[in-house]
Amino acid sequence: MAASSGQSIAVVGAGQAAGQLISSLRSLGFEGHIRLFGDEPYLPYQRPPLSKEYLAGDMTVEQLPVLQPEFYDNAKVELSLGTRVEAIDRGAKRLQLAGGESVAYDKLALTTGARVRRLGAPGEERDGIHVLRSIADVDGIRAAFAPGRRLAIVGGGYIGLEVAAVAVKQGLAVTVLEVADRVMNRVVCPEVSAFYREEHERQGVRILTGTGVGAFEAGEGGAVRVLCGEAPAIVADLVVVGIGILPEVSLAEAAGLEVDNGILVDAFARTSDPDIVAAGDCTNHLNQVLEGRVRLESVQNANAQARVAAATLCGQPTPYAEIPWFWSQQYDLKLQIVGLSQGYDQTVIRGLPEERSFSAYYLKDGSLIAADAINAPRDFMMARKLIAAGTQVDPARLADSSVPLRALA
Ligand SMILES: Cc1cc2nc3c(=O)[nH]c(=O)nc-3n(C[C@H](O)[C@H](O)[C@H](O)COP(=O)(O)OP(=O)(O)OC[C@H]3O[C@@H](n4cnc5c(N)ncnc54)[C@H](O)[C@@H]3O)c2cc1C
Repeated sequence: MAASSGQSIAVVGAGQAAGQLISSLRSLGFEGHIRLFGDEPYLPYQRPPLSKEYLAGDMTVEQLPVLQPEFYDNAKVELSLGTRVEAIDRGAKRLQLAGGESVAYDKLALTTGARVRRLGAPGEERDGIHVLRSIADVDGIRAAFAPGRRLAIVGGGYIGLEVAAVAVKQGLAVTVLEVADRVMNRVVCPEVSAFYREEHERQGVRILTGTGVGAFEAGEGGAVRVLCGEAPAIVADLVVVGIGILPEVSLAEAAGLEVDNGILVDAFARTSDPDIVAAGDCTNHLNQVLEGRVRLESVQNANAQARVAAATLCGQPTPYAEIPWFWSQQYDLKLQIVGLSQGYDQTVIRGLPEERSFSAYYLKDGSLIAADAINAPRDFMMARKLIAAGTQVDPARLADSSVPLRALA
């Protein structure tokens, strides 16, 4: 798999993972040619601020890149931005670009990320209905933001709730429509969901759970009517749909790579083709710490896996072995999540939600497997260590804030 210094590496998809991968390739000593293809017109940029500081207008587009623009010159990276790769000819080791050009590669890295999941509801393509994945998406949403306007958010996940937090602070009338019976139900326990719901409602956001959206219709004066089954329609001036993402695997799939809920890669970021690695949201990887396959959607995963892929390409294979972590910012609340809580059989709350600083711990057979820390960065750091060590914990001592967490190790 290792690329020699006379060889060329093509990187397809100019996002978080691509930026990290290129930077790691150079720092690990790869001296060959690197060419980066991205269909957006931007250098690899950070997406987390899109639903936070950039949406709020507290960050400019110049502050979003993963690496400073000079890096690419200094590192002699050939940039092909605004250029979509249409197909991979694995036999000939060539990429087919939109526009007809064909480009040779020796090794290929796929960092194609994800695309937003669509509702599939009639009227979804109407004006005023937005999704949120790219700078262009947020520019469209921001253009429609104005105090007093009515915003309906479909999906009470972390992106929908981050948008709600920014919008209500800017004076919009915000309604969140969530089909499940609680917000962020895929990622946090009922206690944390309840805390966030209460906080949003206190800030003035209306949250309707158990509310599925069936269709969108034209309303009066350019408004959108959001139809929710038997419930009265919600009338909105703009709608943001945030119902999750799907890994962007179309190139890989058409090229015959193994794909199953993401491009299948091993612990070394190797795909089923010995000359192709993949990293980031587009993959489904074998994780040695979690002892199984997992598809993650986070900056931590994009960076860690990109480092693994670069090491593989440089002939210094190192397996992926990190505990996943993630964060979300809503109002003054920083939520930090570590580990994967699926399959937990007990939760323990430590600290007082009313003091706006507490943690929820997820246990399985007595071992700590995940934690959510709300305005509690030290709990988050300590939980990372306890989870990595597979620590068995006594729930009563864990719940007791007077017992230091390190005493549980
Ligand atoms: C609004 C928002 C908020 C987020 N907040 C957080 C957060 O708080 N914390 C956190 O950990 N994570 C967060 N995430 C997730 C995080 O940003 C992603 O996990 C991360 O960006 C994944 O990086 P990636 O390189 O795999 O994919 P991306 O950053 O999506 O980059 C993939 C790039 O490849 C391009 N591409 C795809 N196919 C082709 C092709 N055929 N040819 C050329 N280019 C192609 C895409 O257009 C895209 O530019 C957030 C994401 C979003 C959208």
